[in-house]
Amino acid sequence: MDDLFRFADDLGPAKILHMYQPSLNLRAVLVVDNVAAGPSIGGTRMAPDVSVEECFRLARAMTLKNAAAGLPHGGGKSVIFADPAMPAADKERLMRAFARALADVKDYIVGPDMGTNETCMAWVHDEIARSVGLPREIGGIPLDEIGATGLGLAVAGEVAQDYGGPSLAGARVAVQGFGAVGYHAARLLAEHGTVLVAASDSRGTIADSDGLDIEKLRAVKREGGSVVDAGGAGDTDAIIDADCDIWIPAARPDVIDAGNQDRLKASLILQGANIPITHEAEATLAARGVLVIPDFIANAGGVICAAVEYAGGTQTTAMRTIEEKVRRNTRDVLDRVKANGTLPRQAATAMATERVRSAMALRRDA
Ligand code: NAD
Repeated sequence: MDDLFRFADDLGPAKILHMYQPSLNLRAVLVVDNVAAGPSIGGTRMAPDVSVEECFRLARAMTLKNAAAGLPHGGGKSVIFADPAMPAADKERLMRAFARALADVKDYIVGPDMGTNETCMAWVHDEIARSVGLPREIGGIPLDEIGATGLGLAVAGEVAQDYGGPSLAGARVAVQGFGAVGYHAARLLAEHGTVLVAASDSRGTIADSDGLDIEKLRAVKREGGSVVDAGGAGDTDAIIDADCDIWIPAARPDVIDAGNQDRLKASLILQGANIPITHEAEATLAARGVLVIPDFIANAGGVICAAVEYAGGTQTTAMRTIEEKVRRNTRDVLDRVKANGTLPRQAATAMATERVRSAMALRRDA
């Protein structure tokens, strides 16, 4: 009994569902953390080494992210214990079985995450008509193609100018992970006059203090190449030392910690990836005057886009909603930082938690 409730606190989780169907190799767990604001939205992660605890932590992160974004959705997450690189026919069978197991769980809307993609979401939709991140052909808004998350990062950068962040005109930007998020952030910030001076990917780093050609780099990446093929060198870590004003982590978690934070030269960090900087390092960065816009405020564009898609909205509505929400939330968080002297992450967590509690107070069984 104690063990079963080891994750529980006053916010959730509302339910943990264990799905097991040996004939189809289905082993999966769903955590619906909190549904006070509305049915939960969160991705399905497929990997052989996922855990219930990871699922709970990701579900809680979604509760806070959705609340911080002001969406009418709670937080949930699911994990499937399987190798995502299995043959397509097996994957389709597995995803369809997973979807059918969720047929009656009306308070969870399935989204893509590591190991699942828009085709998987289409299979889920075909079974239970309750998923987001769908292909365009069946009403989806392709969030990576349109740059939903990159837009949010650029907007956060704009707002930061009023709170001690660097002026965007002429600011030098370095991007760790020149993928969907990193490319669009660089592109949209450049519309405000920034210059991309360094970019990295899993194979190396490219840098030029006179500015890199963003579209040329994108073209190389689109063809399956790397920044190394565009003239970079094979040291992925060199991006941390880039001489820049704005540093954007858009690759992996925990890339900056107490041991390497002092190598960062930027005065503003816009977090595209989830938990790219340890909390300890965030505190040290704040102490030396670096403004850090936390992940679930700056990178909420993707989930906002998914929520608009779920509500039947268009791409235009999605982009407008991302812009409005990320602008307002970044301001709210930075106003709190200014008023209370707290760290941005603490301010963002407090804001999100207050919103969840307010929504809970309006529910009958609160
Ligand atoms: P992506 O796969 O399009 O791009 C990731 C890039 O990171 C690739 O170019 C890859 O080569 C590079 N990379 C991998 N390991 C690296 C390393 N060690 N050093 C430098 N670069 C490395 O992925 P994406 O959709 O752009 O997502 C990037 C990150 O942002 C992920 O952590 C994702 O979870 C997070 N995120 C994405 C969205 C979204 O809308 N796509 C929303 C919120 C958060």
